[in-house]
Amino acid sequence: MKLAISGSAGRMGKLVVKHAINKNLKLVQAFDVVHVGKDVGEVAGIGNVGVKIENDIEKLNADVLIDFTTPEACLKNAKVAALKGIKIVIGTTGFNEKERKELEEICRKVPSIISPNFSIGVNVFFKIVEFTASLLNNYDVEIFEIHHRHKKDSPSGTAIRIAEIIREVLARKGKDLEMIFYRKGKKGEDLGIFGLRGGDVVGEHTVLFFGEGERVELTHRATSRDCFAMGALIAAEWISKVDKPGIYSMIDVIGLNRWSNL
Ligand code: NAD
Repeated sequence: MKLAISGSAGRMGKLVVKHAINKNLKLVQAFDVVHVGKDVGEVAGIGNVGVKIENDIEKLNADVLIDFTTPEACLKNAKVAALKGIKIVIGTTGFNEKERKELEEICRKVPSIISPNFSIGVNVFFKIVEFTASLLNNYDVEIFEIHHRHKKDSPSGTAIRIAEIIREVLARKGKDLEMIFYRKGKKGEDLGIFGLRGGDVVGEHTVLFFGEGERVELTHRATSRDCFAMGALIAAEWISKVDKPGIYSMIDVIGLNRWSNL
């Protein structure tokens, strides 16, 4: 697999580069708008790897592109990749509804993976939340997440995905919960999502199920970004072997589909 990375000088991109080299993967191209012309390994702090950072995505020439950039950049990068028939792994989050639809349209044309969270633990966590929501379907549910102060989107893509999972489970039980970001005023038939920001927190997600006289709290804590980078590389290796165009998820990658419809 010939691998290209966009956003290669960012927090996530640098770690993807580091782990790709550790895994002896064939990193052939690195894109970013900063540190252009520098060796991507030097930028990632692992020494020269013989791949210079480029800023013209039209020159993309690889089997799989991993993208950790911004919604605007990611849409452009995915468009170029899809036109060239290059498989895509998207870690970028923060798309609005219109952008999300556009991204899905682009990604459907080639085998691709869109995941707001590449950690194996979080994807198992998704299943635990699905299971708990199906059993505690008459409990009140709220979600909060905490991230570092530099994160651009709020609430996180992962928190929104968790809310979607709960809504899908409850819809099967005939309950339609409205998704509320940062509720003001009284709680109704809704599911509140709250994003807290500060310091260097890598990422925490908590789902609370409130009953009478009790509550269940499920929490996932990421203590470093390595789990996201390693997960994105597992996803890239997996999608490189898929021929059928379409959008796949980490649930497919780690084979958790058999636990669906609990
Ligand atoms: P960051 O700001 O550190 O890095 C983004 C990089 O993209 C920067 O180096 C920036 O220069 C580069 N960039 C901007 N425009 C570009 C363009 N047109 N072409 C190429 N590169 C461009 O951000 P980060 O913390 O690395 O996060 C990146 C994205 O990944 C965010 O959306 C974040 O929420 C998401 N994220 C996802 C996961 C996951 O598991 N899916 C985990 C962590 C972060």
